[in-house]
Amino acid sequence: MADLGDLYQEILLEHNSRPKNFRQLEDATATADGFNPLCGDKITLYIKVEDDAIADVGFQGAGCAISRASASMLTQSIKGQTVGRAQEIFQAFHIMLTEPGADLDYDTLGDLETLSGVIEFPTRIKCAILAWHTMISALDGSGPVTTE
Ligand code: ZN
Repeated sequence: MADLGDLYQEILLEHNSRPKNFRQLEDATATADGFNPLCGDKITLYIKVEDDAIADVGFQGAGCAISRASASMLTQSIKGQTVGRAQEIFQAFHIMLTEPGADLDYDTLGDLETLSGVIEFPTRIKCAILAWHTMISALDGSGPVTTE
């Protein structure tokens, strides 16, 4: 973690030690499992969709600090948004982590920008993006996710 820099480290550690929405939703309407074999990160994401909006979201699982922090930030950023908006946030986040030098949509990213430093550590990108692919899979109903 030390190599990610102090700014990122502080925010990541906060989300890692006190993750937001770290719970199972009994009334979830969409759920999916995600697994990152490179690091061993596992996540189960629970989403309650009501009237095309994300009424509630929670996650459980075990993984490294980056995977937990990213999942925690995901739940904060998509809760209360429409499904379409959640997919836009995924796209902005995906571009940030996979396209070096791309113009970033800072309005859409919000606090997620703090994870941008991960792009310098290719093996950790899977950790950061796991929860997001899992979210898309849950919304699409396309089954478990394994990053490769
Ligand atoms: Zn990881």
